[in-house]
Amino acid sequence: MQSAIVWPQPAAKKGVPQRGYCVPRVARVARVTGKLQPSSETQLITAVATGLLLRSRRSCFRTQRFASQDLFSAAALHQPLGDPSDVQEWLPRAFEAANGTFFHGKLQVESIRVDPSWHLRGGAGGTHTASKCIVLDPSVHGSYRDLCGTLFHEMLHLQIKDADECEHGPIFLRSCLDLNEAIRSTGLACFCRLGEFDTALDRKLFEEAGLPAFLCDGLASSGSHSWDAGLLAGDLREASGNADADGSKQASQLQLLASARSCRKALQVGFPSWAMRSRTMSQYCAVSSGRDYAVFADYEALWAL
Ligand SMILES: [Zn+2]
Repeated sequence: MQSAIVWPQPAAKKGVPQRGYCVPRVARVARVTGKLQPSSETQLITAVATGLLLRSRRSCFRTQRFASQDLFSAAALHQPLGDPSDVQEWLPRAFEAANGTFFHGKLQVESIRVDPSWHLRGGAGGTHTASKCIVLDPSVHGSYRDLCGTLFHEMLHLQIKDADECEHGPIFLRSCLDLNEAIRSTGLACFCRLGEFDTALDRKLFEEAGLPAFLCDGLASSGSHSWDAGLLAGDLREASGNADADGSKQASQLQLLASARSCRKALQVGFPSWAMRSRTMSQYCAVSSGRDYAVFADYEALWAL
């Protein structure tokens, strides 16, 4: 943990609980309105304060929505991670935008650490809910979309805390599914990862995403040499036979649907069984071909074995 980089967050004022990013500003406005008077004056002040609260919350969420459209677009997320200082600068902005757009601004985080050795101890990322600390390992992520998927997963841990009896119990799985469905309704290009190897694809998923089956078949034979070869977005672009085709957008749909399907399967069989089976299948396929996804003839049939 010595190599970890920490962004200090503004410390919460004593006795003033920080509930999202909008409330403290409104609380300050309410205080400068002076002493509360009885009857109609009180009602007026309450109405003004409520109006300011609603307006402030609306404007805060609007700002975060714009930030989300910017940060979580297909083009923005389909980028190599590159310079560590860029990742350091991106993570808190992505956290705030996602918090405002998908968590009603209710999540609180004390620090977001980058630790390139974390995968040796805890996987692609981790969350310590008591200290509200998130750690992410950029060395095991191939793009901002990839890193974003793990960030959202860790944000869910912050939200759920110890509500489940185990780390990825039914509450977590249901929340992960709900979050992916919420993201789908926004059309943004992000997704929430369930496990490290959950981009399992088959023709059924392509159909669900409204994509032609030949793209699924073409993935197996792609051989690009660009930076994103082996990433679903890059390979989809090549499989379509059109360099201008929006492989990033298609990839985001597929990854989101694949993750949602993983959540449903894990709700059925339990996370440990899903993780073991999914990791074994996908890791074998992905590692043997150097990809961040795995293609199966029929994903569901594999579970009947
Ligand atoms: Zn987790």
